[in-house]
Amino acid sequence: LTERLSKAIKNLTGRGRVSEEDLRATMREIRLALLEADVNYDTVKKFVANVREKASGTDIMEGLNPAQQIVKIVNDELTITMGEEAAPLNKSSKIPTIIMMAGLQGAGKTTTVAKLAYKLKTEEKARPLLIAADIYRPAAIDQLEILGRDLEIPVFSMGTDVNPRDIVRAGLKKAAENKNDYVFIDTAGRLQIDEELMQELKDIADIAHPDEILLTVDAMTGQNAAETAKGFSASLDLTGVVLTKLDGDTRGGAALSIRDVTGKPIKFVGQGEKPTDLDVFYPDRMASRILGMGDVLTLIEKAQRDFDEEEQEKQLEKMRQNTFDFNDFVAQLKQVQSMGPMEDLLKMIPGMANNPALANINIDAKQFAHLEAIVGSMTPAERENPDLINPSRRRRLAAGAGRPIVEVNRMIKQFDQMRKMMNQATNGNFGGIDKMMGG
Ligand code: GDP
Ligand code: MG
Repeated sequence: LTERLSKAIKNLTGRGRVSEEDLRATMREIRLALLEADVNYDTVKKFVANVREKASGTDIMEGLNPAQQIVKIVNDELTITMGEEAAPLNKSSKIPTIIMMAGLQGAGKTTTVAKLAYKLKTEEKARPLLIAADIYRPAAIDQLEILGRDLEIPVFSMGTDVNPRDIVRAGLKKAAENKNDYVFIDTAGRLQIDEELMQELKDIADIAHPDEILLTVDAMTGQNAAETAKGFSASLDLTGVVLTKLDGDTRGGAALSIRDVTGKPIKFVGQGEKPTDLDVFYPDRMASRILGMGDVLTLIEKAQRDFDEEEQEKQLEKMRQNTFDFNDFVAQLKQVQSMGPMEDLLKMIPGMANNPALANINIDAKQFAHLEAIVGSMTPAERENPDLINPSRRRRLAAGAGRPIVEVNRMIKQFDQMRKMMNQATNGNFGGIDKMMGG
């Protein structure tokens, strides 16, 4: 990161909206950061254009300055682009689940087969079978057999004189006899993509009907990773990607390029040579790594947190003045929801742990959506003055939110209890709440 951007980002002043000027300056640096992280050039161009559009003229969150706001948008967008959440392994409804590898020579296919099989064996007590179908690379079969012996996982091989297609057929038969629950097909690679290799992989896929075809890509190959992904993606119905060698000093831009080119989720990352060095891929962590702005992102998170505290202080003030209404109720629940179960949170307040009112306060995520729908059906007047809500209004709310009337009644009761409890707390009966809410 350049000195300039660091300064702009750390200086906590800006307000208002993101201007064209802010955008131009910050996006230039972001573009450099992405290219430096080895994100493919076309992907960078597309990504930057997309973010620019999203960021242009957005309101700047309180506590952030324009540069921080843009970095936040970039970070969020990176995370979303890479899949937002970890993608699990596809599993077949009947055994065996078949996992086929694909990738260039040296990408880490054989190592990943061993790692993933070992993970399933230890975590799920799975009984995998590894099929050695790389007959070209000298010692490829030995390599898999040695790994299998060390990890106590059976390996099926037929030497180097049998066609890989026949090895796969025989291996699958063996797995059926042994009732293995997972079959891994370790395939050959080449230094570069060629027609013969692709045909062989396509044939193996036709024979095995794999539940997963995992493209294995070496993260250290940087800009070339996108080309590789494009090549394999054109011939095979890839289901996911394993990005290896992230223990190296790469910033991991390949993750973004590959996702962009293939549209397929990255499922695992290799972080070393040992069998345990395989991790689930987390888009948000990769986003921070690609941006290389760890401290800046921490700063932004902190600013956001401070902002939340300010918001809480406002609500606490309302409770003190006994003007806590349904708008606050929802705002409060939203914040609390992000911290964990309501009951647990309230129990943290001194004196609250044994409060009988808590027995009735139990709000999970689904319920929360229902509560929000009910509040959403209220008129502004009803939200601000809950005492207006008489039985006929309750019926209207139930119909409007598509929830049973008992639920509306229960919510209003909960709200009343909460209001009462908060009044008590803020009036000193339960001295801890002020502290808890940052007061
Ligand atoms: P294949 O040709 O695709 O089967 O690749 P291999 O599995 O034989 O791996 C090639 C080399 O990369 C071997 O020396 C592996 O130990 C190494 N390797 C594989 N995955 C990783 C990884 O995540 N981190 C590191 N540092 N090395 C790896
Ligand atoms: Mg291999």
